[in-house]
Amino acid sequence: MEVVSRDFHVPSLDEVAGVFEAGLRANFATATASVVDCPDLTQAPFHLASEGICGSPRLADVGGVPNLVPLVNRDKVYNFVDVAKQIDLPGAFFLGAGAGSSRLAGVNCEMMPNTHIATHTIKSYFAKVDPEDGSMVLNPYSSNEFGLLGNFLASEGRPGKVIKVEAETRTGDKNFVTCMREALHAHFGDAMPVAIGGSFVIEAGNAKLHVMPDFSKTPLQSDDEVAQWLKFYECQPPLTCLSVFVSHDPGMDLRVDHTHCFSQHGQGGHYHYDVTPKAVKYTGYFVVAEKVFRVDAPKETHTIGRD
Ligand SMILES: [Zn+2]
Repeated sequence: MEVVSRDFHVPSLDEVAGVFEAGLRANFATATASVVDCPDLTQAPFHLASEGICGSPRLADVGGVPNLVPLVNRDKVYNFVDVAKQIDLPGAFFLGAGAGSSRLAGVNCEMMPNTHIATHTIKSYFAKVDPEDGSMVLNPYSSNEFGLLGNFLASEGRPGKVIKVEAETRTGDKNFVTCMREALHAHFGDAMPVAIGGSFVIEAGNAKLHVMPDFSKTPLQSDDEVAQWLKFYECQPPLTCLSVFVSHDPGMDLRVDHTHCFSQHGQGGHYHYDVTPKAVKYTGYFVVAEKVFRVDAPKETHTIGRD
């Protein structure tokens, strides 16, 4: 399996916090970002598999949408134990967004990976569409196997310094992640790509999520056809989101952001944006990744379905 890696620019956490805060203030009535000691993220409302997100932070972009669209390639099955070795961090704690293994779940599904290889702790979830009534179903996912694609933050899972971000009352039209990602690109430019991973909670306000139904039997040829195929749901807080993003793709065929969320009330999926801007409140913790690994990039790629 081909693995390509690249060192990304690693600015100080203080500099990134300043960029996040300025970017968010253009889009939210209230926003702050500062460097703090990571709280114990195993606790509610985060429920992570390790207490921190620090120690050798790196992103992994595995497989890709071309394994799903236009038609599924069922041979694409991955495992976090293997990915951990491929990214030179064999005990890695992974969080982020990907596709669950259809051979384990029985159908195509969204995966919220939250697994610490070193301690054998798996707190992942998966979401699927109930074929009977079209409702969203969220369940624990107890395997390290996954399928097709994924975007992950990997770290040693330790406590340490992180960027705490809070934003409330959305006044612009960008989502929380897009705001921070575009602010990074504007500040650091094309020459200095920056990679971020972490977890945030939507504490108040509703959010629009999607869940993939089972694989399409007809080829999906455009973003519109993908949007027609996906099932969208309005979900209630609190939603725990697992998020990775890069300021831009420096030619590695990267997905620039990907966020999945889970909850303790049966809702979860792929985060698009909040839908009650006056009510929304976000709180999150992020680290700057030192490297980005591109694992098993599809040989034939395209840009459909990356939103
Ligand atoms: Zn997704």
